[in-house]
Amino acid sequence: MTHIKLKDVIKAGIANKMTIDEYYVDIGQLITSDEFNFNHGSDEDYRNRAVNLLMNLKADFQSNSNIIYDLMKRFVKIKCPYCDAWMDVRGGGGNSQMHTLNYVCPEHAQISLSLPSDGFAIVFKHGVRKDKGVN
Ligand SMILES: [Zn+2]
Repeated sequence: MTHIKLKDVIKAGIANKMTIDEYYVDIGQLITSDEFNFNHGSDEDYRNRAVNLLMNLKADFQSNSNIIYDLMKRFVKIKCPYCDAWMDVRGGGGNSQMHTLNYVCPEHAQISLSLPSDGFAIVFKHGVRKDKGVN
């Protein structure tokens, strides 16, 4: 089986989802599975590494079931409807289709937010960072 490499995707011009040599490529999925399968030797969780890599690249991407928790935790902030303080993320769960995060204000409320696993998309206005070396 052919493995599409990240450098091939970058060479072709990164887009959220594209086809290379008849292979359908989802950059978020590619980087997530590369970090899981090939880039061992770091103590950092592979999902976190995948999100960091996507952010550093400034590559447009869409979430998948593995990284949506990290993305929601980083970027989706909720204020307590009672005291206006930022609520803490206290766990969550999901499956390949849907993921839920629980937000808590210890004093006042708990709010659950659910998104489909591919429901989080990031588009960078200025495109891929050319100064980022990728192997
Ligand atoms: Zn509150």
